[in-house]
Amino acid sequence: MKDLLIKSFKKANNKLILLDYDGTLVDYVKVPQEARPSENLLSSLLKLNKSPHTRLVIITGRAYQDINGFVGHLPIDIVAEHGAMIREDLKWKQLIADEGKWQHLFFPMLEKFTKTCPGSFIEHKRFSLAYHYRNADSDCGYSRSRALIGEISKRAPEFGLKITDGNKVVEVRRKDIDKGKGTLYVLEKEDFDFILSIGDDKTDEDMFEVLKNNKYAFTIKVGAGETSAKYRLENVQQVIVLLNELL
Ligand SMILES: [Mg+2]
Repeated sequence: MKDLLIKSFKKANNKLILLDYDGTLVDYVKVPQEARPSENLLSSLLKLNKSPHTRLVIITGRAYQDINGFVGHLPIDIVAEHGAMIREDLKWKQLIADEGKWQHLFFPMLEKFTKTCPGSFIEHKRFSLAYHYRNADSDCGYSRSRALIGEISKRAPEFGLKITDGNKVVEVRRKDIDKGKGTLYVLEKEDFDFILSIGDDKTDEDMFEVLKNNKYAFTIKVGAGETSAKYRLENVQQVIVLLNELL
């Protein structure tokens, strides 16, 4: 895969690189706010973005303020909150309108579960709520997350919401927001003859699906688990090695 990918990258005229952040460019850490990029990573991203005819986009589920704090000082484009927010030409804009009224009802439901499972916590974003249990006892985290899914599933349809059962995270957000839509938004603006898309979790599958029949796309899943991606890498370190090989 690597040889073909590098060869295609070198000869392409207009290249797009779509990279998830957590679990793809940086390893998961206990406190999400501490998942800072290393200087080496930042320098690789900057070089890639500067290489001729290449557009680098970070595409993440994180709140836009969060990801902006990590990589916002680089002159790159960022899709945040699974496609609800985008930063182009260094300006943030909202791609969808959602007053988030549903959050008032759902927040207490999630909060209840954090109280019965120490270490679990809520990430409160503009367009979604996420229940993280990576720091909780794994049995407790898993069983409480199943119960949470059961409970919020009952109310989700009436608000047009969907639930994503990710890697130690349950996220609820509007149905029409996903990384697939975010990817389409980027694709609509330009024709690319090379696309590299890398991600590690369930929410990245929407991006892989959109690119599935694109003959220019190399889609890569990081880690184990079912995927629509064409290729696989084992971990963050392998992603970094690959990105550096493109330089
Ligand atoms: Mg990820």
